Amino acid sequence: MEPRTLFTELSYIVASVLFILGLRGLSHPESARRGMHLAEIGMLLAIIGTLVNREIVSYEWILAGLVVGCAIGVPMGLMVPMTAMPQRTALSHAFGALAASLVGISEYYLHGAGLGPVKMPALSFEVLLGSLTTTGSLIACAKLQGILPGAPLTYKGQNIFNLSLLGITVLCFVLLLTFPGHAELFYLMLFLSFVFGVLLVLPIGAADMPVVIALLNSYAGLASAATGMVIGNNVLIIAGMLDGGSGFILSIVMCKAMNRSITNVLFGAFGSVSETASASDGEMHATNIEDVAILLAYARQAVFVPGYGMATAQAQHVLRQLADALEERGVTVKYAIHPVAGRMPGHMNVLLAEANVPYSQLQELEVINPEFPTTDVAIVIGANDVVNPDARDNPKSIIAGMPILEVDRAKTVVVLKRGQGKGFSGLVNPLFFKPNCEMLYGDAKESLTNLVQAVHTA
Ligand code: NAP
Repeated sequence: MEPRTLFTELSYIVASVLFILGLRGLSHPESARRGMHLAEIGMLLAIIGTLVNREIVSYEWILAGLVVGCAIGVPMGLMVPMTAMPQRTALSHAFGALAASLVGISEYYLHGAGLGPVKMPALSFEVLLGSLTTTGSLIACAKLQGILPGAPLTYKGQNIFNLSLLGITVLCFVLLLTFPGHAELFYLMLFLSFVFGVLLVLPIGAADMPVVIALLNSYAGLASAATGMVIGNNVLIIAGMLDGGSGFILSIVMCKAMNRSITNVLFGAFGSVSETASASDGEMHATNIEDVAILLAYARQAVFVPGYGMATAQAQHVLRQLADALEERGVTVKYAIHPVAGRMPGHMNVLLAEANVPYSQLQELEVINPEFPTTDVAIVIGANDVVNPDARDNPKSIIAGMPILEVDRAKTVVVLKRGQGKGFSGLVNPLFFKPNCEMLYGDAKESLTNLVQAVHTA
């Protein structure tokens, strides 16, 4: 093997190992940062290994792509806020999948009927999946960004129409394997795949979009793996399969955390049903900083339950300050973490890690739930759906069966939120009307800052 090829192949092997170690690192908050760095080094190695390939005909075009990519990617990485990360990720998937599709289209344009029995199915698969992921991800991004309405867009017979369209697309795919020279079949499949991507995501509510994005991520990975098979690039096959597998597992984990099936997410039009009547029985009780500070200062155990509102308020640092102030007074402090709190998997873990909250204080749902009945105060910071007792108590609720953090079983619950805003699912939360629940209205960061001062003087 000539030295350049040897270098490329070796760099691909090392990069693949680093990708696997990176994924392993991402499975725990403590090792996630290291995992990310390992994967970055792996990607850099894979790029360098590819750049020395002697089949490259023009470095000018690669340089131009690099400049354009950096001009878009760097500001996006620096400026997009954490709360907009899901739509940013969707946009990246759209770009990645479009790249896979374009490679497939150009390969077909160049070689057409000359593609062999291995390359043709891989190429068709790449184009089909890549194209539907491109448009699907763009619609997901538009829904999360509020460019399109977040509610499911549905009409009668929609699922049958969509499945028929998918059937015709798959038929084109199958026919192409027998008649690879029929370009009209290829371009029809390409067109239908783009349309199917749009129609697949339109009926899904914004509340389910993070699951859809994880699923589309897995499609983009599989499309890349197929690209690797078409152009004979091993690292692309390995990275694509890792991406495809991990994205799929992530979507399953998220569905489990919401007690939903993947088919229910894709075809259930979640979020179109309005809230149940029982939700708003009773009235809410407003409280104030001084009263909450006294409750906290004299508690034995306080449990903090962060949610999406903590992320929007960027209140994680001041929350840590409140925890420190309470611990100085001998209060035991714990953080209850729901797997789908916030807007992306691990959202709360990332924010609390940023504030250097010790991992030992973060408690998962199964561990903390039995502790709520003996907890003096549960402080809910901008969480709503993940503490909605309707999921447990009301079988008619659209979130029935979703595991929740059972804060309503604590002696007192204090909810920090700005007003009457609903959670992502659009439901009214009966927790807020319970006799042991008090509402501390205001921006979470502001309320927590005031609480820190008040606890010091309590
Ligand atoms: P949530 O149900 O979306 O509720 C967030 C609450 O925060 C709102 O009720 C809002 O009320 C309050 N809020 C917003 N800004 C605030 C601020 N600056 N200060 C104080 N409060 C503020 O959040 P969640 O309980 O974390 O639940 C997450 C939802 O996303 C679930 O429905 C989950 O299924 C869904 N989801 C998440 C993921 C994921 O990966 N994490 C994936 C799929 C779906 P006000 O407007 O009144 O302040």
